[in-house]
This record gives sequence, structure tokens and C-alpha cells, in this order.
Amino acid sequence: KPKVTTMRTFAKSTKLDNVLYDVRGPVVDEALRMEDAGIHVLKLNIGNPAPFGFRTPDEVIYDMRQQLTDCEGYSPSKGLFSARKAIMQYAQLKNIPNVSIGDIYTGNGVSELINLSMSALLDNGDEVLVPAPDYPLWTACVNLAGGTAVHYLCDEQSDWYPDMDDIRSKITDRTKAIVIINPNNPTGALYPREVLEQIVEIAREHQLIIFSDEIYDRLVMDGEQHISIASLAPDLFCVTYSGLSKSHMIAGYRIGWMVLSGNKSIAKDYIEGINMLSNMRMCSNVPGQSVVQTALGGHQSVNDYIVPGGRIYEQREFIYNALKDIPGISVVKPKAAFYIFPKIDVKKFNIEDDEKFALDLLHDKKILIVRGGGFNWPFPDHFRVVYLPRIEVLKDATAKLTDFLSYYHQN
Ligand code: PLP
Repeated sequence: KPKVTTMRTFAKSTKLDNVLYDVRGPVVDEALRMEDAGIHVLKLNIGNPAPFGFRTPDEVIYDMRQQLTDCEGYSPSKGLFSARKAIMQYAQLKNIPNVSIGDIYTGNGVSELINLSMSALLDNGDEVLVPAPDYPLWTACVNLAGGTAVHYLCDEQSDWYPDMDDIRSKITDRTKAIVIINPNNPTGALYPREVLEQIVEIAREHQLIIFSDEIYDRLVMDGEQHISIASLAPDLFCVTYSGLSKSHMIAGYRIGWMVLSGNKSIAKDYIEGINMLSNMRMCSNVPGQSVVQTALGGHQSVNDYIVPGGRIYEQREFIYNALKDIPGISVVKPKAAFYIFPKIDVKKFNIEDDEKFALDLLHDKKILIVRGGGFNWPFPDHFRVVYLPRIEVLKDATAKLTDFLSYYHQN
């Protein structure tokens, strides 16, 4: 008879100790519990266009349907030739230098490639400069790979551009790379050429790799142009990320890519590591890859949303004007993507804990936002709103928020 001993239990890896992903964290769990109890929750927390009535362009659906039976097998690990050819042309249009077809990798969303490229690079203790606020997957993947995400501040007073002095002050002899998210999630900032040039200058001076997350590069408003930082840094090694989740409303198809550019000779060994990890995952979702060529060619239907009269543009106008008029809230107008990152007057409401603020708003008004801390913002004074819902819904949400803040006081 086997001896009865105490039951063995299993804990998560300590590698996860410094990993945080609040976009789907504890406040979201509470919202799900409320929904299970039959309570309707207004979700302003996830940047997923499809549930808000943004449809995938017809030609993409048609293309996927036509190709489905041809996509039964694995593709080459970096991706189908047709997809990579289209991405290469896209990179050329954006003046990204020294890119050939072998420098392009498709992934199950940009997410997989962020994880893969951090894992292939970092040794324990290596430092990567990551913006605060950031899209938190960057911090999570740097830390999961054994590195240390060192946060540099973006400055709300300067349209949320990176603070160059803060970047400089955080560079050490362990710093290997700098991450930028442009256009930015959660702030909606779009970086002009002068800002990008200053970042390139710092990277050049300290021999850093530049990782640029540009998944919102086709969601830019007010007639502004998106500039890929890699186009300004032919002498540095750069990795640029983009994909179809946001511009083509197909986050569920899981299709993203990364492009290696510039001075690849200094990263030969790192690229070998990337290739190994890319081979190990076999390939990314092939039906997803099969629509890239069609999606990137010709008319971009997202363009209709981001001009006056278009849904994303008009919803931005609405949310910006509504938020800035709420007593105790101030906000910078976003230029791109579909997020806004307002500031709350913490003194007025006595806010010390932004998770509690998010939970209190959820319980009282059934509105789900993400606290600033979820984006590695070091103060409890911000939250992110996704303005994908229609104006009627946003109107309801901002009216409820106004009412909530008329009595809220954190104890
Ligand atoms: N990068 C940023 C800045 C994002 O906001 C997101 C999704 O919200 C991603 C990457 C992940 O996108 P994907 O669907 O391609 O994995």
C-alpha cells in the first residue's frame, strides 16, 4: 500500500515573479464575476475592434475563404513568401533600410514576436529601456526572459513624448536596447521626426538596439504621417513590429510581423537565436498569413474610420471633449490608435491606490477601465479608456464617470 504523505502542490515558476499583465488582470476577473452574476459591464478595457461593430474588410474574409484549403500544412518558419513579400514592400514604403525577405518574420500576433525577440536576446540582469506608460507585454517579456525592464518616463506636459534626460539617466553598462511604442498605447501619442532623431542619437551614442512597436501605424489622425524610427537609423540594428490586429480589425486571426533592418552584421549571433526560436515554434498561423498580401495591398478601409466623419475620429473627438470637461480630470488629446490616458486629480479624490479606484468605479457604475499602474505608470493618477464603442455608449460612460467623481473620495 502506498504511504500517505501530504499532498504535493504546484506553484507557478519564480520566473513569473516580476511579470504583470493587468490589461487582463484582477479588476477584469472581478468584472467577469459580475457578468456571470448577470450584471452588464461596460468594457472600456481591451483594444479589440471586432466586438464594437468594426468589421473585417470583405476582401480579407473572401481571401481567407479562398485560401483555407491551401493552408493545411506548416509554412516556412518565418512565414509564407507571399506574406513576407508584401511586408517587405510595406517596409520599403516606410523607408526602412537594408531589408530583404529573410529579415521578415510572421508571428501569431505581434505578441508572440515580442516574446520571442526578448527571449533570444536577454541574459539575466541585462537591461532594456521600456517606456512608462507602456503596453505591458514589453515589460512582462523582458522580465520573463530574465532581463530587467528599466522604465523611462514619457512626459504628459510634452504631448507624452519620451523624456530624453530621463532616458539618458537610466542607461547603464548593462543596457542592451531601447523599446519605443509609436504610435503609443496607452497615450495615443505619435512621435515626430525630431523626437525620433533624439532617440536614435542616444541609441547611437550608447550602441543600443532599437525595438519599435508600430502596430498602430495605420491608425494616425489629423493628417499626420507616421515615421518608422528604423528609417532614421541605417547604421543601427533595429527591429520593427506591426500586424493586422488593429488596422484590419482581425485581432482574432493572430497575424503580426517583425522586420530586422539597418546594421544586421552587429547582430549576427542574436539573429541566429531568433531563427532558432522561430524554427522551434514551427510557423505562425498559416491561414492568418495567407491574407497579408491582400490586406496590405490597395485601399485600406481603416482610412475611412480615421478622418472627420469616420467612427474612430469622431469617437476620439467625443471622448476627449467629454473627459476634459469633467471636474478633476485633465487629458492630452491622442493623435493615433484608439486609447486615451486621462489624469485624475489624486488630491481632490484622495486617491492613493489606482486599482481600488478601478474596482470602485466597476462596482458603482459597472464600467471597466484599466488603471495606469497596469501600464507600469509609477503614480496612481491615470487610467486608460478604449474609445472603440459608439458615441452613445461613450456618452453613457462619461455621464456615469462624471456622477461617480461627484461623490468619490478614497478612504
Ligand atoms: N503592441 C501593442 C502596442 C498593442 O497595443 C498590442 C495589442 O493591444 C499588441 C502589441 C499585440 O498585438 P497582437 O494582436 O498583434 O498580438
